[in-house]
Amino acid sequence: MKVLVTGGAGFIGSHLCDRLVSEGHDVVCLDNLCTGELSNIAQLQGNPRFRFVLADAALPITLEVDRVAHLASPASPVDYGRLAVETMMVNSLGTYHALEVARKNKARFLLASTSEVYGDPLESPQEEEYNGNVNPIGPRACYDEAKRFAEALTSSYQRIYGLHAVILRIFNTFGPRMRREDGRVVPNFILQAIAGQPITVYGDGTQTRSFCYVDDLVEGMYRALHTDAAVGEVINMGNDEEMTVLELADRVKEITGSGSSITYQPLPEDDPRKRRPRLEKARALLGWEPEVELEDGLRRVVEWFQKAPA
Ligand code: UDP
Repeated sequence: MKVLVTGGAGFIGSHLCDRLVSEGHDVVCLDNLCTGELSNIAQLQGNPRFRFVLADAALPITLEVDRVAHLASPASPVDYGRLAVETMMVNSLGTYHALEVARKNKARFLLASTSEVYGDPLESPQEEEYNGNVNPIGPRACYDEAKRFAEALTSSYQRIYGLHAVILRIFNTFGPRMRREDGRVVPNFILQAIAGQPITVYGDGTQTRSFCYVDDLVEGMYRALHTDAAVGEVINMGNDEEMTVLELADRVKEITGSGSSITYQPLPEDDPRKRRPRLEKARALLGWEPEVELEDGLRRVVEWFQKAPA
């Protein structure tokens, strides 16, 4: 099977490319490297099953493929704040062009959507039927609303053209290949703890998140690409072990044996208070379950940061 992965040089995309190639699929990895990195796909370069195309996913492409996985987008609040217009373009025009590739090839389409479509949720845990609470003009709107548009466009292609699509709403994911300057909480806390610097907790640290290790997510994505029962569905994907940001800081300190202090900084505008996925649909449709314990996952990221060149 030949698969187009947009955003294939990014954190999650590169792990998906690894998995697809290791299962014997041919992969076309498209990335403009605005947040992706060539080092993420260095192990695949030269493999006859893998081709890297340096291009912006917001532009049209012509390609023969059996599956399209559309992941291209900045995904950290720091990145999508800095690249707000690019984020909106790749999730609107980019989704359109990726959908067109899928439509012309009668290929199955996987949209990497996000828990951010739920905004600052008034319901917890969040189930797929919940329509969310999003500020359309706040600093996160470029990502949240663009992903909501991407979902609406994908749903329209399903209705109008009978496209076979699956929408995955991905919750906080972490793992090796997150960038040092990514700005998200896991790399920030780990790097601060390793360096013995104060750990920057935004707000009072009582806001919650649920963290999924990247291998678990990629297993779910791989199943979603191959499972007929997933077609036409919107599925949450993540880990449902919820914790406060302060609890995460403690876990990171424990694992690294760090004596770092905690320093409190202002909570970014529209930062969701709570986030935890309901995973019943993923379990039922994909027979999938997140398996990696938080501590195991954090340890693997610590090791990776210690080995990876700064
Ligand atoms: N956060 C924090 N310190 C940091 C980075 C993030 O306290 O150095 C908080 C952030 O305010 C949010 C949570 O950690 O409540 C998760 O933030 P992240 O940027 O990882 O992802 P989000 O879930 O907000 O998209």
